[in-house]
Amino acid sequence: MSNTKINDKEYIAPTYARFDLEIVSGQGSRVFDDEGKEYIDLSTGIAVNTFGVCDVEWKEAVINQLNKFQHTSNLYYSEPCAALAKLLCEKSGAKKVFFGNSGAEANECAIKIARKWANDTKGEAEYNIITLKNSFHGRTVTTLKATGQDVFHKDFGPFPDGFIYAEANNAQSVRDLVSANRCCAIMMEPVQGEGGVMPLTADFVKECEQIAKENDLLLIFDEVQTGNGRCGTLYAYEQFDVKADIVTTAKGLGGGLPIGAALMFERVENVLGAGSHGSTFGGNPIAAAGAVSIISRIDEKVLAGVRERSEYIFSALSGADGIKSVSGMGLMIGIETERDVNEVLKECMARGILPIKAKNKLRLLPALNIPMQDLVRAITIIKEVAKG
Ligand SMILES: *Cc1c(COP(=O)(O)O)cnc(C)c1O
Repeated sequence: MSNTKINDKEYIAPTYARFDLEIVSGQGSRVFDDEGKEYIDLSTGIAVNTFGVCDVEWKEAVINQLNKFQHTSNLYYSEPCAALAKLLCEKSGAKKVFFGNSGAEANECAIKIARKWANDTKGEAEYNIITLKNSFHGRTVTTLKATGQDVFHKDFGPFPDGFIYAEANNAQSVRDLVSANRCCAIMMEPVQGEGGVMPLTADFVKECEQIAKENDLLLIFDEVQTGNGRCGTLYAYEQFDVKADIVTTAKGLGGGLPIGAALMFERVENVLGAGSHGSTFGGNPIAAAGAVSIISRIDEKVLAGVRERSEYIFSALSGADGIKSVSGMGLMIGIETERDVNEVLKECMARGILPIKAKNKLRLLPALNIPMQDLVRAITIIKEVAKG
């Protein structure tokens, strides 16, 4: 560390357990720290830098918009925002989009849609939303309550009412909650990211769709982390052969700038009217221009590349010495090691690769276009470190 560095701990609220690492530049899947050491980036700023650092096309789209104007407000027509909404609807099959700035805001929007839809069609008392145990839906007071982990339900109460928690991959547990409570929606992450990269089973998701149909509930997918090509399809739920009513996303959508979206399908497309929701920065032209560049390039070729890289990771690591399990979908991978994960992570960083953690696992969220030779090198290092 250079001695001119500001002591950030003196000024920034200590809400993050930070590593002693400063990234100062990069290109694609290679990044450099303040001492010039090179790393292969395996986490893309927590699934944000979809095509890596300083991706040329994304940068051009952002700078091009920056040279026109930076912000206009949602009171006026905005070309990047309209173009992004059209692109998302065409590619996902959604009917309407609401833009916010983050994953938590996208989920807040989904929750508001579900509640208002219930108010409009079923009556005020049908407000419960079923979420899953071990889920993560955000850090606002409401999305903390939506998160199905007790550790998030302390210190900041009172929390809003109306969230009940089913066991992931246990349809009976969903059925039991539906029959004992008045509900409007079931909400889930296709792969529980913060919960340890735990994918839902196709059977479970399919049964949830059936339960939703039988009981007139909405099906909401939180694709904040799994979305935008990360899992090998534009949205991960598409692989479960079910229909969504709302899909939320953020992280990788903007390719590095803050933007979140709630995608609304047929049943809810007319729920939010003028004045019912809003966001000053939502759909910001610069973030939206960057997002257009990202989403327009997530085509079958890119997705096939994600699946191919994923297969390589699974086959290289499954059953390897010191590896207990490999979980996930596409390029969202959890690795359970026999060695302590903190030790493994520390050694990985020392050896020039940057994975992160999810619970007790190593988590990989590389760029969708990480060069195969970089991925091979990174996986080789992980195998060596895990072996000890
Ligand atoms: C990261 C994440 C969120 C929260 O997103 P923010 O942009 O941090 O508000 C919500 N849901 C899931 C599944 C996430 O991974």
